Amino acid sequence: MDKAVVLGGSVAGLLAARALAEHAQSVVVIDRDDLHVPGRRPGVPQGTQLHALLPGGFLQLERLFPGFGRQAVAQGAVEAPPEARRSYLDGRLKVVVPGDADSLAGSRPLLEGLIRQQVLRLPNVKTITARATGLVFDGAVTSGVRYEVGGTAGTENADLVVDAMGRSSRLSDWLEQAGWERPEMRRMSVHLNYATALFRRRADKPQHTVVLALNSPRTSAAVAGAAFFAIEDGRWMAMMAGYADNRPGRTPEDFVRRLREFPPEFHEVADSELLGDVQTYRHADSRRRDFHKLSRFPAGLVPVGDAVASFNPVYGQGITAAALHAACLSTYLRAGPDLRQPAREFLALQQVVVDAAWSMSTSADLALPHVDGPYPRGYRFSRWVSRQIVDATVTDIATARRFNDVVSLCEHPNALARPGVILGALRANLRAR
Ligand SMILES: Cc1cc2nc3c(=O)[nH]c(=O)nc-3n(C[C@H](O)[C@H](O)[C@H](O)COP(=O)(O)OP(=O)(O)OC[C@H]3O[C@@H](n4cnc5c(N)ncnc54)[C@H](O)[C@@H]3O)c2cc1C
Repeated sequence: MDKAVVLGGSVAGLLAARALAEHAQSVVVIDRDDLHVPGRRPGVPQGTQLHALLPGGFLQLERLFPGFGRQAVAQGAVEAPPEARRSYLDGRLKVVVPGDADSLAGSRPLLEGLIRQQVLRLPNVKTITARATGLVFDGAVTSGVRYEVGGTAGTENADLVVDAMGRSSRLSDWLEQAGWERPEMRRMSVHLNYATALFRRRADKPQHTVVLALNSPRTSAAVAGAAFFAIEDGRWMAMMAGYADNRPGRTPEDFVRRLREFPPEFHEVADSELLGDVQTYRHADSRRRDFHKLSRFPAGLVPVGDAVASFNPVYGQGITAAALHAACLSTYLRAGPDLRQPAREFLALQQVVVDAAWSMSTSADLALPHVDGPYPRGYRFSRWVSRQIVDATVTDIATARRFNDVVSLCEHPNALARPGVILGALRANLRAR
C-alpha cells in the first residue's frame, strides 16, 4: 500500500507501525505527545506504574526486533530468567520451573523508549505531533484521518488507518457520527487501586530480579498482591494492589509498612531508601470493544491494543496483547488482502488473542468478593477447576509449566482445559496434603 496512518504512538501503535512498515511505502504515526522526546509522557499516565513484560511479549518483541533483550540490558534493563524469579501464592513459595521462558525487568519508559527507538529508525516511518479528531471516508472505505495541532486542522490520506489510541479511544463515537455501527463495549468493574514506589538497590546483581506475591480472595488480605522488580539505574520498583476500598500504599509510611507484611525478600526492599513519591493509580474496569461482531464496518480500518481490550493490569497482559495484535496484523497483511474490503480476517485473528486474554483476566476477577458478574454458564465448575490448577502450581512443576505458559500468553488457555492437566493438578494437590 502507499500509506498507513497509525493513531496513537504508544506500545500498540508502535508495534503496529513496525508490522506496517513492511507493507506500506510510508507509515505515519500521529500522537498528542512528541514521540522524539524521551522518557515519561502525559499521553501514558500509567507510565509511572510497574509494568511486567510477560515472556510471551518478550518473545514477540525479539521476533519483531532481533536483539531486543540484549539492547534493553545495555540500556539498564535486568534479565529475569526463571531461576531469578520468585513467586508466592498466599505466602507459599511456588516451585521454580526450569526451562521456563525468559523475561526482562525494566521501567515502562525504558521498554516503550526502546520500542520507539527501533520503530522510529525505520526509514519509512514518520511521526506527526497532533491530536487525531476524526476519520475521512470515501463511501465504505476509510480514506484518511483528521487531526488538529495548535488550533490548526489538518488531514492525512491513508490506505489503512490503525486505531491505537488506548482504552479511551473515540473511534466508536467517530464511527457512529459517520453513520456506522458502534461496537458493543463489555466492561467488568474491578476497582483496582495500584501503588508503585522506587527504592535504591544496593546489590548490583541481585539473586532475585522479579518477585511476586499474590493473595487469593480466600485470604481476605487487604493487599491483593505485591511485586518488586530490579530495574535500570540501580533501583527496585515495587508495587502493591488492592481492590475496592482497600487502597494500600497511599503514603510512603503505609507503603513500606505493608511491604513488610510480605515474604522476607520484600523486607530488603522495604529497608532500602525510598526514592521520590509513591505513585497511585485507580483502574475502574476491564473493557473490550467487540469490533468483530459488527455487521457493517468500514474498509481500511483496524483497531489494536487497549483500544480493543484493556485488562485488569495485575495480570500484566497489555504490552504482550499489543504485540500479539501486531503479529495478527502482520499475518493479515502478508496474505495480500484487498484493503478496499473490511479487514474481517484481521478481526478474526485478533479475536483469538482478545478472547484468550479476556477469559483469563475476567475469570480470575470474577472470584473477587466485590465483583458481581456477569457470571458465564458453568462458572462454579470452572472456578473449582481453576482453583485446583492454581493450587497445584505451588508444588507441581508440570502443572506450573503449563500454567506459566498460558498466563504469560505463550500458549492458549485451552492448554489448561485438558483432562490430563486437571488430573495432574488434582493428584499434585492430594500429594501436597
Ligand atoms: C496501572 C497500570 C498498570 C499496567 N501494568 C501493565 C503491566 O504490568 N504489563 C503490561 O503488559 N501492561 C500493563 N498495563 C497496560 C499497558 O499500559 C497497555 O496495555 C499498553 O500501554 C498498550 O496500550 P496502548 O498502546 O494500546 O494504549 P496507551 O498506552 O494507553 O496509549 C495510547 C496512545 O494514544 C495517544 N492518543 C490518545 N488519544 C489520541 C488522539 N486523539 N490523538 C493522538 N494521540 C492520541 C496517547 O497519547 C498514547 O500515546 C498497565 C496499565 C495500567 C493502567
